[in-house]
Amino acid sequence: MKVGIIGAGAAGTSAAKTLQAAGADIDVDLFTRSGEQPYNRTLVNKGAAIGLLEPDQIALPATGVETIADTVRGIDPRSRDVHLDSGQSRTYDALIIASGSRPRTLDEAILGRDQALSAGRLTALHSIADAVRVRDLLATTHPARVLMLGGGLVASETASLLTDAGHDVALITRSLLPGARALGEATARSLPNLHLPQHAAYLGRTPTAIRGHDDRITVVLDDGPRAEGDLAIVAHGTLPAAPAPWTGPDGIPVDDRLRSLHAPRQRIYAAGGVAVHHYPRHGSYRVDHWDDSVAQGVHAATALLHDLGLGDDPGIFLPSSPFSARVHGHTLIGAGHPALGSSTRIVSTDPLLTAHYLGDTPVALTGIDAAALVRDWIPRLHQRAPIRS
Ligand SMILES: Cc1cc2nc3c(=O)[nH]c(=O)nc-3n(C[C@H](O)[C@H](O)[C@H](O)COP(=O)(O)OP(=O)(O)OC[C@H]3O[C@@H](n4cnc5c(N)ncnc54)[C@H](O)[C@@H]3O)c2cc1C
Repeated sequence: MKVGIIGAGAAGTSAAKTLQAAGADIDVDLFTRSGEQPYNRTLVNKGAAIGLLEPDQIALPATGVETIADTVRGIDPRSRDVHLDSGQSRTYDALIIASGSRPRTLDEAILGRDQALSAGRLTALHSIADAVRVRDLLATTHPARVLMLGGGLVASETASLLTDAGHDVALITRSLLPGARALGEATARSLPNLHLPQHAAYLGRTPTAIRGHDDRITVVLDDGPRAEGDLAIVAHGTLPAAPAPWTGPDGIPVDDRLRSLHAPRQRIYAAGGVAVHHYPRHGSYRVDHWDDSVAQGVHAATALLHDLGLGDDPGIFLPSSPFSARVHGHTLIGAGHPALGSSTRIVSTDPLLTAHYLGDTPVALTGIDAAALVRDWIPRLHQRAPIRS
């Protein structure tokens, strides 16, 4: 039995380790991008971009399976082949797609976007290459003026890290309530209180034009003012990233055991930021957090072992892993997927913890500095009994 795993990040490496630990007679090919050593993406901003860690210090430990650094260009589900950048192909009996996500780019309607990108002062912050670009630019200018476009977890955390490093940060968010998508409204309402004493924030503003110059970058906002910086970082969330024939923005829809719905009964599974799930009585959703992707990798590998008659059924996948971001001395913390909820209840006001409900079912938790409470409540997620404080 040959299992191909596409992507050696959170989900891919946890799937590889699960298959290895099963002790079954299974060969694993773990594919990563050409020239890439698998790395921990959560340290792109916390380590590499601020020069705290060298790129090779954020590498993931070896999994013990064969890692092939050759980008997968396409999958042929009928012949069971993956086609590689080098021109070679590898066959598989089963496949786990764990190719993660790609950064959402600035709207192409923003005048000057492409010119600013090529001028080198506008960047995403998703890969090691992005981190090195940011690190090298910051090394030439201290303090640097950094325009942070976005207000979610990665943008907020990076704004905080750069402020701590002595840079002059301005946060520019399209939403008046940044972070609401990741944290829900109740928790997101506290976020401006963390940012505003520390640095400038333009909330509810949309860039209309962006101009890259040799020595600076200018962002023109919809209500007129211009923000000037040495560097602009775009952190507008992610889109799923799968190889052909599934390269579109819709990712890989999966069933409740993480089997691909694109190729039913073909032993193709998807896990992590690329997988699109369906929550009972809700709709489709995607989670792009590290621990949840690890859990999905384990789940997909366990489901595969079960489908091969080599293990127990893992049951339905439900998101309940924790996630966090450190922002200006506080920890934004959560578990599960808040966007699944249709109502919220405050579990605790100090520290703040909100439970997100779908009907009577708690589906997620979010709060600030409430790690211990989140840990206590995680076992109750997806159970129908209401959470009480
Ligand atoms: C700057 C930053 C900070 C973050 N911080 C946090 C945090 O603090 N906490 C948290 O929970 N989450 C954080 N995240 C999100 C977290 O990193 C992701 O949710 C997680 O890495 C997703 O795991 P994954 O396995 O789906 O994808 P990844 O870990 O991204 O792994 C995907 C792998 O697949 C490879 N790949 C893609 N396409 C191909 C192909 N065609 N062929 C071969 N290989 C391919 C990629 O190169 C990559 O190695 C952060 C993300 C970013 C960008």
